[in-house]
Amino acid sequence: MYQCPLCNGFRTEKIICPNCQTQLLDGGALENYYEPYSPYLPENILNQADGVSANECIHLFYCPDCGYDHRYVTKLVNI
Ligand SMILES: [Zn+2]
Ligand SMILES: [Zn+2]
Repeated sequence: MYQCPLCNGFRTEKIICPNCQTQLLDGGALENYYEPYSPYLPENILNQADGVSANECIHLFYCPDCGYDHRYVTKLVNI
């Protein structure tokens, strides 16, 4: 069964903020943001997510210091 290693907590990515060199935090899978109470989500994020294949998971990493955010596409792994 294919699972996202980040959603399941058996892998973490170290991504460094290009602005302030702080390690970005994993805000979780982007699909978690598809909530009716999140109307502020830009249209282009939704469009990109639609083009992602079923064996990938997009995570939203963000910088706790400056608010920089980064979409990280990770491949699902068979466990
Ligand atoms: Zn995930
Ligand atoms: Zn930053």
